[in-house]
Amino acid sequence: IDMEMSFVDVEDVLAVGEGFIHDVFKKVLDVDVPLPLPRLKYTEAMERYGSDKPDTRFGMEIIDLTDAVRGCGFGVFSGAVEAGGTVRCLNAKGAAAALSRKEIDKLTEMVKGIGAKGLAWVRWTADGCQSSFGKFLSEEEMQRVLSAAGAEQGDAVLIVADAVKKHVLTTLGALRLELANKLGIERKGYNLLWITEFPFFEWDEESETWLAMHHPFTSPLDECIPYLDSDPDKVFAKAYDLVLNGIELASGSIRITDPQLQDHMFRALGLSEEEARQKFGFLLDAFRYGAPPHGGMAIGLDRLVMQMIGAASLRDVVAYPKVQNMTEL
Ligand code: AMP
Repeated sequence: IDMEMSFVDVEDVLAVGEGFIHDVFKKVLDVDVPLPLPRLKYTEAMERYGSDKPDTRFGMEIIDLTDAVRGCGFGVFSGAVEAGGTVRCLNAKGAAAALSRKEIDKLTEMVKGIGAKGLAWVRWTADGCQSSFGKFLSEEEMQRVLSAAGAEQGDAVLIVADAVKKHVLTTLGALRLELANKLGIERKGYNLLWITEFPFFEWDEESETWLAMHHPFTSPLDECIPYLDSDPDKVFAKAYDLVLNGIELASGSIRITDPQLQDHMFRALGLSEEEARQKFGFLLDAFRYGAPPHGGMAIGLDRLVMQMIGAASLRDVVAYPKVQNMTEL
C-alpha cells in the first residue's frame, strides 16, 4: 500500500494514513481505533522508550538518574556524567523476586551483547536492598538513587551508564522489551501511534561524518533550515513512521522540491557540487521544471496482516515466504 500525494504536508498524509487504518480495523476486526492517533516526536520516543518503534502497551519507561548520581562514589556513574554522558534506569516494579541474581546475570550478558559496558542493579526485597554497586555509595547517595528511580520494596532497578546518551537509551529500550517477555507483562490490544520529526542527520562514528538518517531527499522542518550548516543535530525532518505494538508498520516523508534546498542538503551531507550533479543531476534538473510539493507513505501490508491476526511471524502471512538464504522454496 503506497501513497504518493501531491500538494500535501505532513498533516495531510497522517490524516489519510490514519483514516485508512481506522477503516481497515473497523471493517476487518470490528475494532474502533480512536482517532486522532497519539503522536510522539522521535526524541521523546527515544527518551521514554529507548526506541523509535516503542511498544506502548505497557509502561516501564526510562528514568533519568543523571542528577541523582552526579559526583557520587561509584566511578562508573559519576565518570559517565562527567564525560557528558548519562545514567538511566528501568524500574521493574514488583520484580525483585522474579529477577534473581542468575536472571540478572543473563540480562547483563544480554546488554553487553548489544554494546553496553555493564548493568548495575538494585533488588529491594523484604530483607532490604542488595545491589551491585552499593559498596561504592554512601547511604544518602543510595537513597537518592532509589528515590529518583521511584523504587519501593519489591522492585528491581536496572541501571546503564555511558558517555554516549544514545547507547544508554537504546540499551534500555532493548532491555525493556526483554524484561516484558521475561516477566510476562500483559500486552493486549492495538496500540497505534505516529513517530514524527526524525532527525535529518545521523552522526556516523566510523566515518566521523553526518549521514542522512532516512535519505537526502526528505524535507527538513521549515524552522530547522537555519541550522543546516551550523548545528546538524538540530535539524529534524518531515519524516514519520506508523508504529503498532512495537512494530514499524509504515514509513514516509515529505520530499524536497526546491532545487536550492536540495542542493543545500547535498552540501550539508558533504557532497560536492560535481558529485551531486553526477549522482542526482536528473533530479535537480527535474525540479527546475517545477515539481509539485509531494510526499506520502508506504504501509507494510504483510506486517499489518500479521499484527491483525496475531501471527507470530511474517512467514505465517506470506504465501511464499523466503527462507534464511533469501531463496523461495
Ligand atoms: P564492578 O565494580 O566492575 O564489579 O561493577 C559493579 C557493577 O557495575 C556491576 O553490576 C557492573 O555490571 C556494573 N557496571 C559496569 N559498567 C557499567 C556501566 N557502564 N553501566 C552500568 N553498570 C555498569
